[in-house]
Amino acid sequence: MLKMFIESFKNLISKPQTLKYPFEPSPEPKNYRGTIFYNEELCIFCDKCENICPPGAIKFEVIDIENGKKQYNYNPYLCIYCGACVDACPKSDEGCLSQSDKRTPALGREVVKNKKLGYFINKIDNPRDFEKEWEKLEKRAKLSREKLAEHKKQQRLKKKEQIKKSN
Ligand code: SF4
Ligand code: SF4
Repeated sequence: MLKMFIESFKNLISKPQTLKYPFEPSPEPKNYRGTIFYNEELCIFCDKCENICPPGAIKFEVIDIENGKKQYNYNPYLCIYCGACVDACPKSDEGCLSQSDKRTPALGREVVKNKKLGYFINKIDNPRDFEKEWEKLEKRAKLSREKLAEHKKQQRLKKKEQIKKSN
């Protein structure tokens, strides 16, 4: 009886074990595999992260064909948080790509505007447009890569011609 009384008293003064979800967000468990963060300043644009990503959640778009400049775009709603891109990145030790312990807010509840998430997500104001915009980006990125490949091919041909002429 005394034991029961002590136990009840302890429960009365201790913090509740339950969560106030959905009024308060539930905390992420330890070692939670969350949203991928990117640091453009450290990127060498090797495309390894894009090539290894199983669902295609990373897309580089060539934004300057002459200089071959690319822009990183990440879709956290397509991402399966496997961490393969971070493992493949040759600059991840320096923090170019890292897996945070933060979960991505549910689409439609909160628009994510985090500088580290890449350009695409920072541009979208309306979550309803998200899928459509990503589809457009995929097409644009593919086309820009084809244009870059063609540009490089033409450059190589020009060089060959110049060498031929000078000989
Ligand atoms: S964590 Fe996996 S799914 Fe997400 S971007 Fe990286 S490779 Fe792609
Ligand atoms: S693997 Fe790393 S360095 Fe290479 S393109 Fe991706 S983020 Fe940049």
